[in-house]
Amino acid sequence: MLDHFLISADKTAILFIPVSWSEGQDSLRCHYDKMGEFNVKSGYRLALLEKFKDSASFSSSQHRLWNSMWNLNLPPKVRVFIWPAGLNALPFLDNLWKWNVVQSPSCNGCGTHIESSSHAFFRCKVVQKFWNETSFGRLLFGVRNLPILVVLQFMTSQVDSVEFELLCLVAQAIWDNRNV
Ligand SMILES: [Zn+2]
Repeated sequence: MLDHFLISADKTAILFIPVSWSEGQDSLRCHYDKMGEFNVKSGYRLALLEKFKDSASFSSSQHRLWNSMWNLNLPPKVRVFIWPAGLNALPFLDNLWKWNVVQSPSCNGCGTHIESSSHAFFRCKVVQKFWNETSFGRLLFGVRNLPILVVLQFMTSQVDSVEFELLCLVAQAIWDNRNV
């Protein structure tokens, strides 16, 4: 049966899997998760690895950033939001414009710049006022014009995990406010 469905390398690998002597049901396990469970976390991790596994741009520092983000105590809604936000995969107006969904990529907040992920979260003068009311304003002042991934990496190096969780929650609030 193995010969019929599998290539030689996979068949050999399967034949070397030790068989358990205890009673128990077989089950599907995901080896990208420590507990063998396929969930949002392991699915995103797998998707990211597949996307970037051959890319030099996926540096070890980015890897550390995403790994540390998965360990944050955040609601699932925020967790699955901050990930595509960092990868510029949310429907920012510059993306919607590229996809021919909207006529203009201009930011609805300031009306003077293209709405990219960095602009929507950190550069727009409207959200700068918001950040300046928080303890993050001073730190963001010097880096807000950098790509969003760089900003996130910088912030993880400057604040502790609880503060970074707060930053993610504020970013979520900015996104929610933009979409009302
Ligand atoms: Zn703007």
